[in-house]
Amino acid sequence: MKSLSAKDRRERLKRAPEIAPKTLATLAKQHPTAHCELDHRSAFELIVAVVLSAQTTDVAVNKVTPKLYERFPDARALAAVEPKEVEPYVASLGFFRMKSKALVGLARAIVDKHGGEVPRSMDELVELPGVGRKTANVVLGVMWNEPDGVVVDTHVMRISQRLGWTKNTDAEKIERDLCAILPREEWDHASHVLIFHGRRVCFARKPNCEGCSVSDVCPAAFDAEHVGRKAAANGDGRRKAAANGDGRRKAANGAKAGALRKAAGPRAAKAGSHAKKRSPRATRG
Ligand code: SF4
Repeated sequence: MKSLSAKDRRERLKRAPEIAPKTLATLAKQHPTAHCELDHRSAFELIVAVVLSAQTTDVAVNKVTPKLYERFPDARALAAVEPKEVEPYVASLGFFRMKSKALVGLARAIVDKHGGEVPRSMDELVELPGVGRKTANVVLGVMWNEPDGVVVDTHVMRISQRLGWTKNTDAEKIERDLCAILPREEWDHASHVLIFHGRRVCFARKPNCEGCSVSDVCPAAFDAEHVGRKAAANGDGRRKAAANGDGRRKAANGAKAGALRKAAGPRAAKAGSHAKKRSPRATRG
């Protein structure tokens, strides 16, 4: 399919924020089962899964959580052990030592400050070690449909840029833009729909615009690879844009690892530089 003329693209970009709720509804029809793909049965299991999902895929996390949840069914059980006891359960994931420490630290804070129950407010959640706005919004949105914003991960970031819903590259600014154009009751649903779309249709490289339900309104349709995509192996005139996209991803992943290290304590922070060198696979699918 031929890419859009510059004039068409400008017009689509101009209209994009205004029609965002309708565009989201169309995407939701394409992905009617969009939901959080981290397996969980409680807020505790969900917050554990979100912490484990840093720098890995939901599929990898879902492979380890059944046995982890069975051995540590609640915050008290996890708070009562040393991180070493948790390590074997998460050993197949990257940064598993840091993640084990982070989980135990998180569970102890939940027990000490909240009687073993995951708190239900943004302020209380972000006070927990290793929990930032993104993790808190996943928990608030998925468990109680009360998010305080839109979860912005790499898929939400890329697709929001392609759809013309934001010009920003910083996650917090993108979140503000999305909150301004989408109705509050859609904030949680929107992130699941965009993540589903990013995993199944609007890929970072080679987005499937032919198979996309919003290609008639998307400003990046049929020419999206340079918008928010990963750096390509073969350079072209758009290499700079691609490199910027990759840089943002690296920064985001670095921040995630930083949060984990912070939650896991000073020794983990020291070890972080080595772990960074050893971890070329820093993606979340
Ligand atoms: S798949 Fe193509 S048309 Fe659809 S949102 Fe992504 S870039 Fe736009």
